Amino acid sequence: MPDLAPFIAGLPKAELHVHHVGSASPRIVAELAARHPDSPVPTDPEALADFFTFRDFAHFIEVYLSVVDLIRDAEDVRLLTYEVARDMARQNIRYAELTVTPYSSTRRGIPDAAFVEAIEDARIAAEADLGVRLRWCFDIPGEAGLTSAEETERIATKLRPEGLVSFGLGGPEIGVPRPQFAPYFERAIAAGLHSVPHAGETTGPQTIWDALTDLRAERIGHGTSATQDPKLLAHLAEHRIPLEVAPTSNIATRAVATLEEHPLKQMVEAGCLVTINSDDPPMFGTDLNSEYAIAARLLDLDAQGVADLAKNAVEVSFMEAADKKKLAAEIDSYTEAALR
Ligand SMILES: [Zn+2]
Repeated sequence: MPDLAPFIAGLPKAELHVHHVGSASPRIVAELAARHPDSPVPTDPEALADFFTFRDFAHFIEVYLSVVDLIRDAEDVRLLTYEVARDMARQNIRYAELTVTPYSSTRRGIPDAAFVEAIEDARIAAEADLGVRLRWCFDIPGEAGLTSAEETERIATKLRPEGLVSFGLGGPEIGVPRPQFAPYFERAIAAGLHSVPHAGETTGPQTIWDALTDLRAERIGHGTSATQDPKLLAHLAEHRIPLEVAPTSNIATRAVATLEEHPLKQMVEAGCLVTINSDDPPMFGTDLNSEYAIAARLLDLDAQGVADLAKNAVEVSFMEAADKKKLAAEIDSYTEAALR
């Protein structure tokens, strides 16, 4: 099998499931840590690389929280967002729906309007300077309960930044039933936002059914347990409800034991629409290009098959129709040239 890495690296891509703070690479964290010398995060590149080497899920949480602690003012938010786009540009990611959790910042004292202005500034600059189009999914950190749901929905609908396209729900699923968030999703949907909750990553297929019926999910974040329920798989396939798959993340969080046991192939064989994503890439020691390489291996794909996966993400994104057409055409012409 030929090495697909160079093809994947040059392939124009869209990413639909990737988190804002979870995308902070060691380079970005070093810049943030330099702004806040009292933080325990090392700034020395070697110590930082070690700090970032993925060990286990508990270590991921530790790294994640220490990065959250570095986001203290609007300038930190702007810097993080713009630099995340720079890392995306290096991978030829042209469009990304970035999952942002405003509650983590407003709870820490950054005013909501300043937070929104910072991400919007970064979005406009990233598009102009780097050719990366960012859109936002504002997500409820489920573990923070209904207060966070109310605050997230309020910021989304009252401040309604131009780049905002969707409304999400993350955090632990066990002990955090999805139906309680229904009223907040109802209001966000009424305001014109798309519904994209995480579901069925660490719990069974019922959580995915709940996300579909109670939260009116249009795409499912992860949905790894869908393959335990043939009726659900058939429903997702029939209604073309995409699954946002992030293989390395699923191993890191132990949602799936090994890559060999990953349900990606079963999802595709059942006719489900899947997209490939990186979730919290530097913290899981991965990037989107690596996730495409893994997907190619699990699905036994050639270059054309990989390009088709990339086109899935474009098709089920919340881009304008004309932009979808343009990016899909770019993928086609790149693939044609590469296979010639
Ligand atoms: Zn996620």
